[in-house]
Amino acid sequence: MVDVLVYTKSYCPYCRWAKELLSAKGVKFQEINVERNSATELKMRKESGRDTVPQIFIDGKSRGGFEDIADLDRAGKLDELLGIRSIGGGLEDSPTESLVILGSGAAGLTAAIYAARANLNPLVIDGLQPGGQLTITTDVENYPGFPGGVMGPELMDLFRKQAERFGTRIIYGEVTGTDFRRRPLELKMGDGKTLRTRALIVATGATAKWLGIPGEAPAPAGYGGRGVSACATCDGAFFKNQVVAVAGGGDTAMEEANFLTRFVSQLILIHRRDKFRASKIMQDRVLKNPKVRVRWNTEVTEVLGNGKTMTGIRLKSTAGAAEEIMECHGFFVAIGHQPNTAAFRGQLDLDDAGYIKTKSGSTRTGVPGVFAAGDVADRIYRQAVTAAGTGCMAALDAERYLEEIAHG
Ligand SMILES: Cc1cc2nc3c(=O)[nH]c(=O)nc-3n(C[C@H](O)[C@H](O)[C@H](O)COP(=O)(O)OP(=O)(O)OC[C@H]3O[C@@H](n4cnc5c(N)ncnc54)[C@H](O)[C@@H]3O)c2cc1C
Repeated sequence: MVDVLVYTKSYCPYCRWAKELLSAKGVKFQEINVERNSATELKMRKESGRDTVPQIFIDGKSRGGFEDIADLDRAGKLDELLGIRSIGGGLEDSPTESLVILGSGAAGLTAAIYAARANLNPLVIDGLQPGGQLTITTDVENYPGFPGGVMGPELMDLFRKQAERFGTRIIYGEVTGTDFRRRPLELKMGDGKTLRTRALIVATGATAKWLGIPGEAPAPAGYGGRGVSACATCDGAFFKNQVVAVAGGGDTAMEEANFLTRFVSQLILIHRRDKFRASKIMQDRVLKNPKVRVRWNTEVTEVLGNGKTMTGIRLKSTAGAAEEIMECHGFFVAIGHQPNTAAFRGQLDLDDAGYIKTKSGSTRTGVPGVFAAGDVADRIYRQAVTAAGTGCMAALDAERYLEEIAHG
């Protein structure tokens, strides 16, 4: 039996995903919440060399955060470290599914609610972010039905419970490749197994983009987890009374910046143009905040540090001014998202930004039996309610398709 220890905080989606990944593998672990215990937090920082949660230790050895153990899982090395042979519940030998739904965000779980109520017995593949993007945000004030607002993770828990109530099966796992020339459709899973299904709803959403600059990568290669982050709600509290920079000019950047001002002494918002792309209401909220200073026409070209933690960032003017170094303790990258469509390249029609193309007015893709819903097929609206709406449409489209093929 291996000894697994997870350092966490109460409100931390990455902690939750790490725990879900371990639980899905049937691993028992000890959890230490460092929130109100500075001694244990110090111990965690000392032993892991990082200042973000979660931090996972397997048999006393630091294995990093959620992304690190997910990478180990993708490479097929995590099971070995955990002393288990394989996961997946014998999917390879399981019968062909009627309907598989990829993703458990607002789109995937809404599709599951509709499909389960239509007796399609859907199987949802969780992916590496159970609950999707809303699990990394705090207050959701624009989802109908919650006049007082709702916390993102709580909302997604409700979606999940509602889907499970009607018999949806949800499993942890990731699809890494697909073969849509075959019938049934074939899905290659991250653990090497193959899953077959008559119909498929792709609701894989989008993930945060990085700048790709030196010093940005996760530790030990860079200062990721040691000052650099893409999740203010997870890591903001580590920067109490400190100076923090945020890169970006869209809604994501405004939301991250606004949230961080709850903790930091000063927030520098860095944008490479002379105006933001964000919606006016979000811009106004940030620009009126006395803690925020904006650096227009400026790019971040490097994250600097002393080998242990980051100490600042290198800035380059896009308007011809001299290069400079800005001292700061934290740096949040908030430049938007990339549709999660790598597994469908060459199989589905994608637009130039990688979003799945659907036939107008429906969720049908160019491949019969494959439907797309939510942010993965929506470069314009990208909201929880639109994702849920298209999730519903995809389930109804899939139901009709399955009826058609059943009746020849
Ligand atoms: C910080 C932040 C705040 C936001 N605030 C709001 C708000 O207040 N109101 C609002 O309406 N919207 C908000 N949004 C937008 C909203 O979160 C998205 O529009 C919504 O989550 C999209 O849902 P989705 O189901 O399409 O995708 P996602 O939520 O991105 O879910 C994608 C799912 O697919 C899974 N997946 C990915 N790849 C694979 C794979 N290869 N195999 C299997 N599964 C996979 C993931 O694990 C995840 O479960 C916010 C977004 C962010 C980032």
